[in-house]
Amino acid sequence: MKSKAAVAFEVGAPLQIETIDVAPPQAGEVLIEVKAAGLCHSDMHAIDGHWNFNSGFPGIMGHEAAGVVLEVGPGVTRVRPGDHVVPFIPECGDCACCRSGRTNNCEASFTDSGPGSRLSYQGRRLHPFLGLGLFTQYAVVDDFRLVPVRRDAPFEQLFYFGCGATTGLSSVLFKAEVLPGSSVIVFGLGGIGLNVVQGARFAGASTIIAVDVNPAREELARRMGATHFVNSRLVEGDLVGHLNELTRGGADFTFEAIGNVTLMRQAFDAAHFAYGSCTIIGIAPDADLLQLPPTALITGRRLQGAAMGGARGMTHIPKLVDWMMDGKLDIASLVTAHLPLEQINEGYAMQKRGEGVRSYVTF
Ligand SMILES: [Zn+2]
Ligand SMILES: [Zn+2]
Repeated sequence: MKSKAAVAFEVGAPLQIETIDVAPPQAGEVLIEVKAAGLCHSDMHAIDGHWNFNSGFPGIMGHEAAGVVLEVGPGVTRVRPGDHVVPFIPECGDCACCRSGRTNNCEASFTDSGPGSRLSYQGRRLHPFLGLGLFTQYAVVDDFRLVPVRRDAPFEQLFYFGCGATTGLSSVLFKAEVLPGSSVIVFGLGGIGLNVVQGARFAGASTIIAVDVNPAREELARRMGATHFVNSRLVEGDLVGHLNELTRGGADFTFEAIGNVTLMRQAFDAAHFAYGSCTIIGIAPDADLLQLPPTALITGRRLQGAAMGGARGMTHIPKLVDWMMDGKLDIASLVTAHLPLEQINEGYAMQKRGEGVRSYVTF
């Protein structure tokens, strides 16, 4: 069948809107109609060539979306036509990570074969970014990458659970396991950091300090539940010293949601020396090093990382969607622009200018 898609022909080039060919799903594969696809930073890093993980050209970017199952290939039992689904990190169920419950690191994430071959443009195979490739109206995806969800959740919010919302919320709720009454500091208030703030409120944290250099983020951070907003550019003297005053000596939980090693070090230092935990969510460039004095760990501080916030898609995403539908999580306020596919490059330009939080395209 034919499908409208945004094709990434080469590194650094704008995406081009083309009609591509989609072959029928084979064994274990599923044809879906993508109803909404979010613009996440990781696509942009791959388009710009800053991040080579499981990207290839020509290819189809897009890894944060929601859609409907149209057709299943032989042997598919996890989903049926008509199911609403959120594509996510695979859960093969069989690798060491899946068997240990850390499905967020499923080893199938690191393979690039499979359904990619179902997408082509003028006879050339199109590489699906992260094994997904969702900037196309119709896509073919492995069944173990699809999380079925309730049908009454709106696609224009549901797509965000394919990456940003789930990563931010899971890092707080399922990885750091923030406790009621605790103090939390969040460095970086982008599409993930604001969800960390909201997750901390949901978990019952009593002090939630949101740190960013963009004053425009304050209002949204407070709406998500921040009790304090710190513009790190305006702090006179030492930022960590200032944060330690606010938390009376160090926070119970800190999070870095940008991918900057200077901020990671500040987040680590701002965690309480004896019992604080610092969780790294942002992806720093491969060549960067995070330096720490080992004595700062000996006292009892913890430092941890969490790919996709440690989320187990099949278990956690339906739960998060329920909480949104119950009004306990505010996703709508973070979805700030809806664009037709034709304006996808403008959407990324807005993101580079720091405008809005999350935008999405429809076909
Ligand atoms: Zn696995
Ligand atoms: Zn993403």
